[in-house]
Amino acid sequence: MSKPTVGIFGLTGCAGDQLVILNCEDRLLDLVALVDIRDFLMASSDNQTECALDIALVEGAVLTKKDADALRAIRKRAKLLVALGSCAVWGGIPAMDRGMDRGPMLEEVYGDAGAGYDSQAAQALHEVVTVDLNITGCPIEKEHFISAIASLLNGDAPLYPKYPVCTECRMRENNCLLIERGLPCCGPITVAGCNARCPELRVPCIGCRGPIGDANPASLLAVMEEKGYNREEIVNRLRMFAPQGAPQ
Ligand code: SF4
Ligand code: SF4
Repeated sequence: MSKPTVGIFGLTGCAGDQLVILNCEDRLLDLVALVDIRDFLMASSDNQTECALDIALVEGAVLTKKDADALRAIRKRAKLLVALGSCAVWGGIPAMDRGMDRGPMLEEVYGDAGAGYDSQAAQALHEVVTVDLNITGCPIEKEHFISAIASLLNGDAPLYPKYPVCTECRMRENNCLLIERGLPCCGPITVAGCNARCPELRVPCIGCRGPIGDANPASLLAVMEEKGYNREEIVNRLRMFAPQGAPQ
């Protein structure tokens, strides 16, 4: 039986999720034995750029018309399209400036040349094409990627946590940075899956995995204001990875 064909692609982003895949080290050979990777520019210069794919994995956000065209072309080739990482799932850090006037920002950075740039407000993949599966994280967790591939090969939908980082943080028996030390931790509204990596190191969560489904940012905002933080500073923090979920 032929192996499922796979393509791995990057739009505008840091390529960190593709690096996570390449860093799967001991499991990479098992992965390559199970699937036929046909198109993966970061790993190979010999790619089949037009073949049909069973699974397309796409990282990065849509920030240009070129990104949007590339994503639509990938969608046409693929039976299943997986969004990889917070930029692909939520828009991520590039989407922080959504709602702001783009013209002056381009001029500020590129001067007169800015007007000619192919640049638009960042969009998550699902805002442009149909997405079959989201794997969030900045970057994604290796285990989530491996389990997603294993589940897809078995015809199952992979299961990811639906609870907040606070749950993992409490399971690790950490003292709460927000309540006990008054630090601006976004754990209560951020989807778990990182095993509370930052609070474990006494660093407040900045929400890099994106919001949980029933996030209540207004409530977290009120707690942080009680702790003496300025509203604008908090809103900017909450907007950093998933501006759609943040209070205005
Ligand atoms: S430190 Fe942050 S993640 Fe941990 S319990 Fe407190 S608010 Fe939640
Ligand atoms: S604790 Fe928060 S910022 Fe740190 S890895 Fe987890 S989701 Fe990201």
